[in-house]
Amino acid sequence: MPLGEGMARIVMKFGGTSVADIDHLRKVAERVAREVEAGNEVAVVVSAMAGTTNRLIDWAGEMSVLHDAREYDTVVSSGEQITIGLLAMALQQMGISARSWLGWQIPVQTDGIHGSARIADIDGAELVRRMAEGQVAVVAGFQGLGPDNRITTLGRGGSDTTAVAIAAAIGADRCDIYTDVDGVFTADPRIVTAARKLDRITYEEMLEMASQGAKVLQTRSVVMAMNHRVRLQVLSSFADTPGTLVVDEEEIVEQAVVSGITYTSDEAKVTLLHVQDRPGVAAAVFGPLADANVNVDMIVQSASPDGTQTDITFTVSRADLSRVERILGEKKAEIGCQDIIADPDVVKVSVIGVGMRSHAGVAQRMFGALSEKGINIHAISTSEIKISVLIGAEYTELAIRSLHSAYGLDAA
Ligand code: ADP
Ligand code: ASP
Ligand code: MG
Repeated sequence: MPLGEGMARIVMKFGGTSVADIDHLRKVAERVAREVEAGNEVAVVVSAMAGTTNRLIDWAGEMSVLHDAREYDTVVSSGEQITIGLLAMALQQMGISARSWLGWQIPVQTDGIHGSARIADIDGAELVRRMAEGQVAVVAGFQGLGPDNRITTLGRGGSDTTAVAIAAAIGADRCDIYTDVDGVFTADPRIVTAARKLDRITYEEMLEMASQGAKVLQTRSVVMAMNHRVRLQVLSSFADTPGTLVVDEEEIVEQAVVSGITYTSDEAKVTLLHVQDRPGVAAAVFGPLADANVNVDMIVQSASPDGTQTDITFTVSRADLSRVERILGEKKAEIGCQDIIADPDVVKVSVIGVGMRSHAGVAQRMFGALSEKGINIHAISTSEIKISVLIGAEYTELAIRSLHSAYGLDAA
């Protein structure tokens, strides 16, 4: 049904800090009420209260280290059930028609990968029908229903993806992600005080920033927004200030060479010393890791002075490190490697910007800035709009702040 002039169908998503307690939930309800009173049709997606999901994950781990992933999802999805019920009550108390929706009630259908499920389909028809009648849909983020008819969860930060998926399913005009910062910044504002809020960022840059550690949006939510052309905005729950719009490249008039600096600390470095330098060795190393579903990110192979032996360094997620050590330990003789050295104290720092496509010298500025601070680079990887380096974890903040200045991103 077409909406009246000036009215819109919107999705508003509120993260954990924004729904941290009863007072915060009341403030969220007031914000939602404003949109309803302006004549808009509203679906709200909420996370669990800040800290709740962490506590639930800890409990699952305490109960059983090797727990059933289906029961893990039953436990960790429960935080969102509390917040949707409470928010619906708060709205009703203000005289606004509202109802809560769990993932399985819509349903938000997902694949069966418990703990990091992907959304496969959402039938938005019932939500649209009720929203047209003036009822606010209060939807639990982070959860869905798997093909085994069990509750699934979408991975940490997954409520962002629920919000974008609901927006796509109901044909929303906008998806507003309300959070505890004013928008997307040039670097994590909690680390770089000179970070600047970006008025606009391209989908592509946002995707790289999210996948390289800026947790302000879950990576999958950006992919989904890109694919379904969802108009996405990140803004503050607490302040009435304009946020950051995620847009197509053509919508940005003056494009900076570098838009942001990110880091991920979920990294571990593995070095295989004195590996035989012959065809098939890389396959022998990385084949078993791929078979074990281990994601390998950066790879560096050093030149071998006499053509017989080489060193191979690569990175994996820190959570996979002990598995990698075990798998490669068993294959040591086959690979012909002398020693395996594991280092979990590393971080990957990335510089991101679509302007890199048309500007030379961007990488050099990064290497120069790091060298000036005496920071050693263990590995480098690049894409068309990103350069990443692996450095010692103790240099994280120094590196990010130095790069932020070196690219002229500091707020005046
Ligand atoms: P929510 O609970 O609302 O989903 P998150 O904690 O998942 O919030 O994401 C918001 C946080 O992301 C901010 O508090 C901020 O510290 C962090 N963050 C990291 N990088 C950035 C960035 N480039 N811009 C904005 N926030 C960032
Ligand atoms: N509550 C979930 C988490 O903490 C989902 C979310 O907040 O987006 O990861
Ligand atoms: Mg989040």
